Amino acid sequence: MKLSAAERGSVLQSMRDEEFDVAIVGGGITGAGVARDAASRGLKVALIEGSDFASGTSSRSSKLIHGGIRYLENLEFHLVFEALSERQRLFEMAPHLVHPLRFLLPVYKSGRVPAWKIGLGMWLYDALSLFEAPELSQFLDVNEVSEEFPALQLNGLTGAFAYYDAYMDDDRLVMETLRSARQHGAEIANYVRATGVDFEGDFICAIECEDQLTKEKFPLRARHFVSSVGPWTDKLGQSFFKDWKKKLRPSKGVHLTFDKKRFQLHDAVVMGAESRIVFAIPRHEMVIVGTTDTDYPGDPAQVQTTKEDVDYLLHVVDQYFPGAKITRKDILGTYAGVRPLIDDGAQTESKTSREHMIWTDPRGVTFVAGGKYTTYRNMAEQTVDEVLNYFSLEERVRYNRPKTLEPLNSIVTETLFERAKFEHPQWAKACGLPEEITAKLADRHGLEARLIIRQALPVFARTANAEEWMWCAEALHAIEHTMCLTLTDFYLRRTHLVLARADHGLPFAKAIAQVMGDRLGWDQRRRAEEINALQNQIAFELSATT
Ligand SMILES: Cc1cc2nc3c(=O)[nH]c(=O)nc-3n(C[C@H](O)[C@H](O)[C@H](O)COP(=O)(O)OP(=O)(O)OC[C@H]3O[C@@H](n4cnc5c(N)ncnc54)[C@H](O)[C@@H]3O)c2cc1C
Repeated sequence: MKLSAAERGSVLQSMRDEEFDVAIVGGGITGAGVARDAASRGLKVALIEGSDFASGTSSRSSKLIHGGIRYLENLEFHLVFEALSERQRLFEMAPHLVHPLRFLLPVYKSGRVPAWKIGLGMWLYDALSLFEAPELSQFLDVNEVSEEFPALQLNGLTGAFAYYDAYMDDDRLVMETLRSARQHGAEIANYVRATGVDFEGDFICAIECEDQLTKEKFPLRARHFVSSVGPWTDKLGQSFFKDWKKKLRPSKGVHLTFDKKRFQLHDAVVMGAESRIVFAIPRHEMVIVGTTDTDYPGDPAQVQTTKEDVDYLLHVVDQYFPGAKITRKDILGTYAGVRPLIDDGAQTESKTSREHMIWTDPRGVTFVAGGKYTTYRNMAEQTVDEVLNYFSLEERVRYNRPKTLEPLNSIVTETLFERAKFEHPQWAKACGLPEEITAKLADRHGLEARLIIRQALPVFARTANAEEWMWCAEALHAIEHTMCLTLTDFYLRRTHLVLARADHGLPFAKAIAQVMGDRLGWDQRRRAEEINALQNQIAFELSATT
């Protein structure tokens, strides 16, 4: 079973015709994790996502898999321990999406937290990872720091701590988790919105759905329902129950992106600005700076970077890297997301706990919200355990064990990923592609890159521009394996083109729209509309930088 655009019609037909054990609303990382966990236990699962998969918070994170060093300050040791254990598992489950990254935490005389306390925190961080981090933390003196980071503010610097965490591709982690859920038998569709519920007596028997492409409505029947709609939890709760009580304290987080050549960093730097931490994170394709953390009561779908957000982040960068002289003009991209934090009555948004909450309304819906990407597998397992409380004892025993520690993609294990990086020059020779291109594909997809190339070669000719050919091949794969339905969805959530390039990959748009249009049946007018919609989306995201 594939998560393909071609199968969407038959998926919707099954959703109309059948009754499921569990129906999940929301296709971010939380819903994807719940679908994979439940389907891997043998439950009959359906998942609907109102827009594109990962289009909510799950493509707008800092893209880190981390223990959360700052949670040590709030004494949330169990949260850090859980996250560090999951970090280790994710290295094994998704080696192509989760990569180790060294972090540097500079210590200044005027710093808010004294060096001895940070040192203690570092030791605790190593201990809570059971000393299994890619490398243990260490202290660097001023000379060592200035050699490694000449652009860093050296005035008042007393040294720095170095430690390891990981960076990842958040959106693609959602797609791979959903693909795995689909292989376990889950019926999954994007652009299907939950609009209300149907009751049978005191219990919900179906969710009212609306296909966003055709505006057709249908009931999705299940024995139990899960809400994993992140920052939309209160909105969905209100549409389900008249007596809904507000649960969230949503908080906005903004990131800026820069060219790696312009903002040269080989390790991530932790900038302890005021009461919150801002990271500068180098990745294979760009540098990300973020995040802000401000209360956000508005519509999560309309969240946007403001001029104040940009000023704040540029100010922090300037404080830490005065020599780099980074300005507005250097910003390649920005993105804003909404954390679905649970309202725990904390005084400030940054003190609000990052812990998740799972609770069940006895009318038949389990809600899960809050938490972090890093711990999504655990959250999902706990959610399905909670759901099973509403099933018979025999069923609970039968569906007891999830199989979620296996690699998300069976041809991208740690060993096979290394093999792909070693073998790709042979693919280049065999297919007449530049090695630079096969290396990129192997890095992004491991051995699956071979299939991407094989699938594309007979469909469209290699163009003079090898990179354009590569993105066209990726687009074909995205349609076939991630149910990608629009050009904007491809650019924003299957690639890093918009965030990592000054031209946002727009020079490839015509060729990609052609390939997507041929597969999805778009006429010339629709192709032009798709390019237009992409340009508008980029302008929306970037409006605060001009
Ligand atoms: C700025 C920022 C930085 C972060 N950085 C990190 C980090 O580096 N590491 C980390 O571990 N965590 C991080 N997090 C936390 C993490 O990103 C979130 O906890 C996680 O993405 C939440 O995912 P979710 O699936 O619960 O919500 P979402 O991703 O928002 O998914 C909810 C989905 O539900 C859909 N939906 C809503 N209403 C309906 C409806 N009526 N019908 C159908 N579908 C509907 C939406 O379209 C959406 O796709 C960060 C969060 C933010 C905001």
